[in-house]
Amino acid sequence: MRFGSSEASCTSCHQLYAASDLDRYLWCPNCRKQLERRGTKVGRAVGVVASAGLAAYLVVEVHPSARFVAIYLLLLVMTYTLTSRIARAVVQGFYRSRALGGVVETENPE
Ligand SMILES: [Zn+2]
Repeated sequence: MRFGSSEASCTSCHQLYAASDLDRYLWCPNCRKQLERRGTKVGRAVGVVASAGLAAYLVVEVHPSARFVAIYLLLLVMTYTLTSRIARAVVQGFYRSRALGGVVETENPE
């Protein structure tokens, strides 16, 4: 057996890949792509909800004056960006720790 040219199994889906295709967590490109997609989806949803909630609060409670509309819009964009990034990181960390929860593996058709 030569060292460095071996195959290794993905930590998530347990299929064999060339060791150079796996990342430092030993995840294959397919599982990484799926993880990225999930994180982005949840992150966007959380960002939209958070900024919609902030917008509702601003309209109902703060009564923003027209003079500072640009600042309020900037605040909403920053809220969206921050909350979606945080949510994405949390979701990806969660699925990394659970190895995608077996979603990649074939499920038993019953
Ligand atoms: Zn995999």
